[in-house]
Amino acid sequence: MQTLTGVGVCAGRVIGELVSMPAPVGEPAPGLALRDEEPEAAVARLQQAAAEVKAELKARAEAATEKDAADVLKSTALMAGDKALLKNASKLITGRGLAPERALWEAASAYADQMRALGGYMAERAADIEDVRARLVARLQGLPMPGIPQRDTPFVLTAEDLAPADTATLDPEKVLALVTSGGGPQSHTAILARNLGLPAIVAARGVEAISDGTRIFVDGASGEVRTEPGLTEQALVEAWLRSAEARSAFDGHGVLADGTEVPLYANVGTPDDARTAAAAGAQGVGLLRTEFCFLGRDQEPTVEEQVEQYAAIFEAFAGKKVVVRTLDAGADKPLPFLTDTDEPNPALGVRGYRTDRSVPGVLARQLEAIARARELTGAHVWVMAPMISAAGEARDFAAMVAAAGLRVPGVMVETPSAAVTADQILRHVEFVSLGTNDLTQYTMAADRMLGSLAELNSPWQPAVLRMVGLTVEGALRAEAAGGGRRNVGVCGEAAADPALAVVLVGLGVHTLSMSPRALAAVAAVLRTVDLTTARELAQLAVDQSSAEDAAAAVRAQLPVLAELGL
Ligand code: PEP
Ligand code: MG
Repeated sequence: MQTLTGVGVCAGRVIGELVSMPAPVGEPAPGLALRDEEPEAAVARLQQAAAEVKAELKARAEAATEKDAADVLKSTALMAGDKALLKNASKLITGRGLAPERALWEAASAYADQMRALGGYMAERAADIEDVRARLVARLQGLPMPGIPQRDTPFVLTAEDLAPADTATLDPEKVLALVTSGGGPQSHTAILARNLGLPAIVAARGVEAISDGTRIFVDGASGEVRTEPGLTEQALVEAWLRSAEARSAFDGHGVLADGTEVPLYANVGTPDDARTAAAAGAQGVGLLRTEFCFLGRDQEPTVEEQVEQYAAIFEAFAGKKVVVRTLDAGADKPLPFLTDTDEPNPALGVRGYRTDRSVPGVLARQLEAIARARELTGAHVWVMAPMISAAGEARDFAAMVAAAGLRVPGVMVETPSAAVTADQILRHVEFVSLGTNDLTQYTMAADRMLGSLAELNSPWQPAVLRMVGLTVEGALRAEAAGGGRRNVGVCGEAAADPALAVVLVGLGVHTLSMSPRALAAVAAVLRTVDLTTARELAQLAVDQSSAEDAAAAVRAQLPVLAELGL
């Protein structure tokens, strides 16, 4: 038996067959010419490959249960049979004697470039064309189809990391668990796994060496992968399944054993997410990632389009709190209309609130749209800006929020500078929300996307916990200086870890926001501790000298975690 350990990012235990993501399709060599094949035969082979790819995608679109996935597959199928594309590629075969894969590559690349140059909606099609290009070239070269492998029976998917486009077609009915050799615990792949409730491990070095078809055991809480699972692993899986009920029921009320209220909110990105979150009992939305409504858009959405999206989300939470974050473009979430992709160090560049300087107007229009959507619905809308690093930015943002007619301004604490000046920041705004994903990356100076730095990139790092503590102290000082209560929330992935949630509450955090899937487990664990215990556990964690020790020390004091398989 072989055991590998990575970083568990979503709890769950399964045993299944390993299937790895195929390697990306590379560009066929420039000038690659026909060999031993007549041009007419090569053209026929190209047509045949296109027809097969189209039929396969169409069949998958018809079988897809998710509308988004079906739409992506349908438009890719149409593109695979595009007459102009095939005609241009055929001309390169008959005119220049190119091999069909090279001809197709050139024709599709030229087509994608033209679309990009047109901008707007057309530019968004460029990525679809490149996807079709990869599929047709793979078919012509006899390579496995790119993207999530298709199997009749469920399997454990392994990959170096997943691209956002892959995740749109990931079918949670077919994928039992996700194990990546790269990626960090706060990467968007990890966030996706939590949203789907898929047991997941990142930074599992060595998993790429296990062959396809091997049966493996995956434990998304401990981060362990074992080959040749036997009776012990089977018993672990069964224990996990037995405790499922206790983990899955959230009654919509976050509270400690002593009655202290800890409202539990959801992180959402789209109207669909909001409806799912409301159905899961979320007490409100603690983080609306507005950029998720518009990822892949080449141009700024109109105010009307924005009003429609936001209103659909607010409607799912009528009468409840919805914290809207203004566009957080840049770094791992570039938006073409806001992001300068040539920056040498995007995580430290013009991202989040800073884009209001480089592309003025977008933020003001977004606030106008949020205000209009609020008027149309009954949600209690709070608005916050991402990537704030100085009190002056909070002051300017609050002025913009007021000018838009919105009432409750706040900011995210994602930088050490914001954490240590929280008292000054909270003179200008009414609440802060700790984005522990970025706060960890910036406190530890460790890129959140890098699997090799996963150990540093843990929100259990005592330095990060101290930043949380400093933020709470700053809020208390601001309250003492007058102007009423200052809410301190956490909306980073840390809030979804039930043991860490206890520590955050013990540090003085008032509200927690997470993927809806995590609500029940977090609520179940919070109910077992009172505030005094939570404070003791927070102190215990802060006093440790490593993330590992902090997590181990706290977990040892929370027997409920083992009972629930967390
Ligand atoms: C964070 O940084 O913790 C956060 C919630 O924002 P995002 O993950 O979208 O950067
Ligand atoms: Mg962030």
